[in-house]
Amino acid sequence: MEFIILLHNELYNKKNKQDLKKKVKQEGFERITCSFYKYMPLQNIEDLRDQLYISWNNLDILGRIYISNEGINAQISIPEHNIETFKNNLYLNESFKDIHIKPAIKDGTSFYKLTIKVKKEIVAYKVAPNEYDMNKVGTHLNYKEFNKAIDDGAIVIDVRNYYEGEIGKFENAIIPDVDTSIELLPEIKKLLRTKEKEKILMYCTGGIRCEKASSYLLHNGFKDVNQLRGGIVQYANDIKKYNEKSKFIGKNFVFDHRLGERITDDIISKCHQCTLETDTHTNCANQACHILFIQCYKCSKKYLRCCSQECSDFIKKPKDEQQQIFREGKIQFTAQKSMSIKPKLKNIKNN
Ligand SMILES: [Zn+2]
Ligand SMILES: [Zn+2]
Repeated sequence: MEFIILLHNELYNKKNKQDLKKKVKQEGFERITCSFYKYMPLQNIEDLRDQLYISWNNLDILGRIYISNEGINAQISIPEHNIETFKNNLYLNESFKDIHIKPAIKDGTSFYKLTIKVKKEIVAYKVAPNEYDMNKVGTHLNYKEFNKAIDDGAIVIDVRNYYEGEIGKFENAIIPDVDTSIELLPEIKKLLRTKEKEKILMYCTGGIRCEKASSYLLHNGFKDVNQLRGGIVQYANDIKKYNEKSKFIGKNFVFDHRLGERITDDIISKCHQCTLETDTHTNCANQACHILFIQCYKCSKKYLRCCSQECSDFIKKPKDEQQQIFREGKIQFTAQKSMSIKPKLKNIKNN
């Protein structure tokens, strides 16, 4: 149903979003984007959600937060002048008093509104609760320990979706061929079958996905499970700070408008349309399709930033004609395009 929602946003909520963007752009202060997460038992989630919303809204905080009975996962943008107040308020809450707030980047345009959602899980793995125990997670390694373990021949596994590992990964890491978190843990278990006694190194973007993943592996009989503390983001900071050679190559995929942060100059992926070496992710410019794919600058020009001829033909039509086509249910881009891009993607991978 994704295409309907996206079309809806495009055609009915766009002005609203533009207004929100404008409001943020006209603010007379700087914003800091930061993130934090923690697995811990939380009670009275609905009340907590409301409390956090009121308190953060008063501080003009924007961002996306998930809370659940198992913890919190937050990406937020805070006005610079409110950072201290925010931290003090957060640490007053017994549950959050030792939470680590990630090194901040100055980027005023990361979020335009505040959304706090109550979820079943803070990362939607959907594995049964008897398949892990959050009191037993993997050993956290810093960049140095992680590098050493790689040199010593440990198995490295990427705890992200395929499209993330496609543009950047640790050298020789295993990249699971999955598109969603729901598929990820069973696939990792399958890929590591017979390696239960070996040293396993896990990594993800910021560390949160490895928490439950490492617990799941331990529960499934793996003996030596380790994870990169603070994920690729922390690793990249440390490598730079201590002037070490990065064993992570290419780009770190990020979920904001940038879609990737360059870590090294290596380009490890190809354009999905013409196979030219490139690692620029883009969402199809046809809002009704919006598929995420890798596109070179030539194809971007040729297809008007669309994933296919069909999508670029569609966006050339007048808006009311596009709406008409949708109302009549004639086209469902998302389903079709996922299927047509994916085999191509697999071919590239096998080369
Ligand atoms: Zn191309
Ligand atoms: Zn498309």
